[in-house]
Amino acid sequence: MTRRFHLMPNDPRLFSAHVVRSRRLSPSFQRVTLAGGDLDDFVYAGFDHWFRLFTPQTVGAPFELPDVVGRSWSRSYLALDEAVRPHCANYTVAEVRSTDDGVELDIDVVLHRDDSGRLSAPVAAWSVAAPPDSPVAILDQGLLFDPVLASGPIVIACDETGVPAVRGILRGLDRQAQGVAIIEVPTAADRVELAGPEGVRIEWVVRDEGHDGQDGHGVPGAAALAAVRSLDALSAGGLSAGGLGTDGCAYVVGESDLAAEGRRALHRAGVPKARIVFSGYWKHSPELALAE
Ligand SMILES: Cc1cc2nc3c(=O)[nH]c(=O)nc-3n(C[C@H](O)[C@H](O)[C@H](O)COP(=O)(O)OP(=O)(O)OC[C@H]3O[C@@H](n4cnc5c(N)ncnc54)[C@H](O)[C@@H]3O)c2cc1C
Repeated sequence: MTRRFHLMPNDPRLFSAHVVRSRRLSPSFQRVTLAGGDLDDFVYAGFDHWFRLFTPQTVGAPFELPDVVGRSWSRSYLALDEAVRPHCANYTVAEVRSTDDGVELDIDVVLHRDDSGRLSAPVAAWSVAAPPDSPVAILDQGLLFDPVLASGPIVIACDETGVPAVRGILRGLDRQAQGVAIIEVPTAADRVELAGPEGVRIEWVVRDEGHDGQDGHGVPGAAALAAVRSLDALSAGGLSAGGLGTDGCAYVVGESDLAAEGRRALHRAGVPKARIVFSGYWKHSPELALAE
């Protein structure tokens, strides 16, 4: 994962919270809503504001939290006894709102499965199983996206894990922004309404439609990567062929090949490396085929 420390708080804060509710948004997304603890003090920065999510190793198990000193927390985390060390993974703020009972924060967790259809990853399993009041904590990590970069045309590409981040970025972009957002999701029912600038065309790529896996499109992120590589398609999206030039910027997140190869393709198309934010959110393991 790329690290852009300047958009990360110098003294990232750890917030305790608990689960309020959890519901299925679509075949591949579970929305977990958090509140309580000291979440009322959380200041949402918009865009792709992300955090480290600490959850118990198994639902109901007790856990302890690491000491956070400046930006350092991992040494203290690893020093915790395994019996009480929480699970830790990276997630994006999907929504934040104020209610009569305080701040609520939503996390949209991708439900990915192994060959047997089992939710194989810890947070996906936790997201559907954790009952109300289950304790969690989040460590604020700020933004990866740099809004200052978005002065020229923008190209956005992601797989399903990047949907919360891209939704936040589209919400936060200047209304005059121009560009294209290529968003790959596992099924057509995973597409959501996105409130972006009129000039940013949304191109949904549905993985289970029209791809037989022979061309690599069955691999998460491969279809979005093919769209990124297709500069004609980008041009048709409102960007002139030369429109990805030095004032353009790009944001590519999701499966690690999509992030790394997408960055390479966009750089070849003229976007300076310094204006491409990319992050391999996760690594595809061929033996863990999606069961959806
Ligand atoms: C800055 C940032 C923000 C992120 N925001 C979100 C978000 O809002 N929502 C979200 O769902 N994810 C998000 N992710 C991705 C998420 O952190 C990873 O999917 C992570 O692997 C999940 O952690 P885990 O501990 O449950 O699984 P892990 O223990 O990390 O992985 C277990 C197994 O599951 C596989 N796996 C992990 N993710 C996927 C997937 N999506 N599809 C198929 N197989 C997978 C791994 O390859 C591994 O074999 C974000 C990542 C980053 C870096």
